[in-house]
Amino acid sequence: MFMSIQDEFQFINKVRPSYLHNSTIKVGIGDDGAVYETSSEYDQVVCQDSMVEGIHFTTKTMSAYDIGYKCLAVNLSDIAAMGAIPKYCLVSIAIPKHWAEQELSALYDGLKELANQYKVDVIGGDTTSSMSGLFLSVTVIGVVEKGRAILRQTAQPGDVVFVTGTLGDSAAGLNILLESVKDTYSKDEEFLIHRHQRPVPQIGIGRKLVHFERACLNDISDGLASELHEIAESSQVSIRINRDKIPLSRAIQNFDESKKWTWALTGGEDFELVGSLPPSDYELFKQQCEREGVHISDIGSVLPKGEHPVLILEEGKEHPLQKGGYNHFKK
Ligand code: ADP
Ligand code: MG
Repeated sequence: MFMSIQDEFQFINKVRPSYLHNSTIKVGIGDDGAVYETSSEYDQVVCQDSMVEGIHFTTKTMSAYDIGYKCLAVNLSDIAAMGAIPKYCLVSIAIPKHWAEQELSALYDGLKELANQYKVDVIGGDTTSSMSGLFLSVTVIGVVEKGRAILRQTAQPGDVVFVTGTLGDSAAGLNILLESVKDTYSKDEEFLIHRHQRPVPQIGIGRKLVHFERACLNDISDGLASELHEIAESSQVSIRINRDKIPLSRAIQNFDESKKWTWALTGGEDFELVGSLPPSDYELFKQQCEREGVHISDIGSVLPKGEHPVLILEEGKEHPLQKGGYNHFKK
């Protein structure tokens, strides 16, 4: 079925939620703008991320359901990296002419699954047709206790550098999808593909860090190397990590050495968190996270600003780690 203007209104009616998680909403979908109440105890945090067909996904790598899910997930990951609680979202979509209504419903089902899980209400958006591929943009609004948003600029020499979960899985999953000509996968392959299609935003971890005196935090969208550079630049420090301490899943171990480390360092889209904490707080933080089933790894430390923003210790030797290219320094 093709999208017509009539369908657009029908479609908006279909996406309008039947109930709201947040009683702060005075006007949701249906008027010219949404209206919600704010509280003086909280700062508002706003994030936006888009997904473009051919750039962020193809029909080979993501289903409609996955696209809806992931576009909200990557925004929630930014909210997590600020230490905030997600509340509302707006969805802007440009729909290709050839898209069936069924696919559109699946996309919203994916988005709504995650929205319900995190009690996020869809309060508006925009709908148009597209002459080319699908374009989806999600804006998420969240709140964090006044003055407590967790920033990139707060790392200090002596801090422990940590990451959540395992790294490189998403890039490995994408690689499997792009290279494969089959449609049945091993358990390990399925795990890696799932990590690419359905990233889990670490909201709970960001919320724990808000209660520590000082923490620095970033989510891993562009790859660990790139995020470490951002922290080092914003905080005016250098960072040294130990390659052997980077957490890898069991599933990724089967890939050859150079690939798995390249993916872990520069693959991106893992949507785990990387940050730093004073050593005196690190053990307590780690325990709190592990109690909830999120593994935390100490991968290195923050140093006073030196010649190189990021250093990596690998097989007993220290090298500068480039922003995007692990292999650049390999001899
Ligand atoms: P307007 O012409 O005032 O911009 P629209 O017809 O674009 O109105 O939208 C009507 C209502 O539906 C608004 O509340 C808008 O926020 C909401 N809306 C439009 N598109 C979407 C979408 N893709 N997802 C969620 N809400 C949407
Ligand atoms: Mg509009």
